[in-house]
Amino acid sequence: MRGTTRTIMVSAFAALIAWNVASLAPAQSGQHVHTSNCKRWAPPTTRTVKDRVWIKGAARRIWVPAKYKTTYGPGGNPVQTLVRRGYYKTVRDKGRWEVRSRRVTVPGRWKFICGH
Ligand SMILES: [Zn+2]
Repeated sequence: MRGTTRTIMVSAFAALIAWNVASLAPAQSGQHVHTSNCKRWAPPTTRTVKDRVWIKGAARRIWVPAKYKTTYGPGGNPVQTLVRRGYYKTVRDKGRWEVRSRRVTVPGRWKFICGH
């Protein structure tokens, strides 16, 4: 499978070279013709890719205390009146960006080292 792909790529490259040669002035001399010495096999390597990922804040239940109002009776004595009952409320902490690294494989490939 890989060999086939490589053959197609090399064929495509050869076709490109042929097209370039054909489109150039025929009088041009010293045309470079690739030989087996022109290319070098670069073996597969790995590299680190960094991704920015959004981390959602955690959800928490918090208790909101009851609210009272203080009024004063005819004798000036304070009377506490409930305005709102206490209740639980769900809040979410702030999210944040995080950078995560992962390794990716760069497949091996042929490199032309002749500069043509
Ligand atoms: Zn070459």
